[in-house]
Amino acid sequence: MTRLAQTLGLTEFQSEILDTVRTFVERDIIPNAQELEHSDTYPQAIVDRMREMGLFGLMIPEEYGGLGESLLTYALCVEELARGWMSVSGVINTHFIVAYMIRQHGTDAQKEHFLPRMATGEVRGAFSMSEPELGSDVAAIRTKAKRDAGGNYIINGQKMWLTNGGSSTLVAALVKTEEGADKPHKNLTTFLVEKPAGFGEVAPGLTIPGKIDKMGYKGIDTTELVFDNYAAPAESILGGIPGRGFSHMMDGVEVGRVNVSARACGVAIRAFELAARYAQQRSTFGKPIAQHQAISFSLAEMATKVEAAHLMMVNAARLKDSGERNDVAAGMAKYLASEYCSEVTQASFRIHGGYGYSKEYEIERLMREAPFLLIGEGTSEIQKTIISKGVLRDYAL
Ligand SMILES: Cc1cc2nc3c(=O)[nH]c(=O)nc-3n(C[C@H](O)[C@H](O)[C@H](O)COP(=O)(O)OP(=O)(O)OC[C@H]3O[C@@H](n4cnc5c(N)ncnc54)[C@H](O)[C@@H]3O)c2cc1C
Repeated sequence: MTRLAQTLGLTEFQSEILDTVRTFVERDIIPNAQELEHSDTYPQAIVDRMREMGLFGLMIPEEYGGLGESLLTYALCVEELARGWMSVSGVINTHFIVAYMIRQHGTDAQKEHFLPRMATGEVRGAFSMSEPELGSDVAAIRTKAKRDAGGNYIINGQKMWLTNGGSSTLVAALVKTEEGADKPHKNLTTFLVEKPAGFGEVAPGLTIPGKIDKMGYKGIDTTELVFDNYAAPAESILGGIPGRGFSHMMDGVEVGRVNVSARACGVAIRAFELAARYAQQRSTFGKPIAQHQAISFSLAEMATKVEAAHLMMVNAARLKDSGERNDVAAGMAKYLASEYCSEVTQASFRIHGGYGYSKEYEIERLMREAPFLLIGEGTSEIQKTIISKGVLRDYAL
């Protein structure tokens, strides 16, 4: 093994895609990430280039104009992108989840209507489960839809934390409906809400207030969404049948968890690379700090964590691609990769000494990005809940 995070058994096409993405990251993302992040600027030129490269359609079937690639290919591309700048991987993350949900659960008409334009990046997806009062406890959703005499669903309520909320033109929003009201998890419905990009009242009854000011994960917009008597046609229900939203979203977050673990791998790889470089350049007490055992052992621990997280992520992606149930594998990959990413980033920061605290150094940005991975697509506590349920099911007495 010469480098960390190598993946055995890739096809020639997968390797070609990854080489292209890696070159793009080195040439267009890494040199620009610091400036764009510090000024909280949307990376429009980078996004335009991703559209040209077909990255928005990576997992969309070829019949709808996408590349028809696997979750593994997608996750490995995300790992590369996040190595350059986590926010760039965030631009395609929610889009990918929404396209995946439409591919898996949409009606034929919905697939025809959305997927070709999603493949080109003309339509861009956001994914909305969370609300101000809830994130982990999805079944407690308060935003409600009531059917009116004309057959439309009138939606009222507030959603929270929409990544790409302002820049997207299609939001998959989870809303409580009257159907199946007495059965927990059967009264939630996913609506495919089309809207123009932008902020303010972008459609009658649909407002995207301004961007939430965040600690990190800058450049891309994270927003609230307010429904105020917004009229959604019955045809905008994902799959056409109300009451199936909970399982749609859980399927979406399962692939989303592989994606978040890939992002954690990318950030951790970059943190390791920065530490390995700095440790060989900086000298104290007459030798490079990499030659002090405390630092070299720290590098060894970081490298091992990077490698373990990558293998878990690849395993979870391959399991999903094989058609097997992967809730436990995805939960484990997300849990381990995000916790390790946090630890590796912190270790790299320490190796940088005082300079790690300076905005001139990339590690300062990674330190602000890594904590989000502990939260997004379910916190570590939620992953442990899923993992423990799964193992107790398999090891039941
Ligand atoms: C930058 C950013 C982007 C986001 N993007 C999106 C997005 O695009 N779409 C979207 O829908 N959401 C998004 N989210 C929301 C995210 O998914 C939630 O923040 C996350 O699921 C946690 O929910 P919460 O914040 O409500 O915390 P809570 O659910 O209130 O949890 C608070 C704490 O309690 C713990 N906890 C909760 N329940 C339990 C339990 N049963 N047992 C043990 N511990 C528990 C949690 O682990 C956490 O430590 C985003 C969040 C952020 C910060």
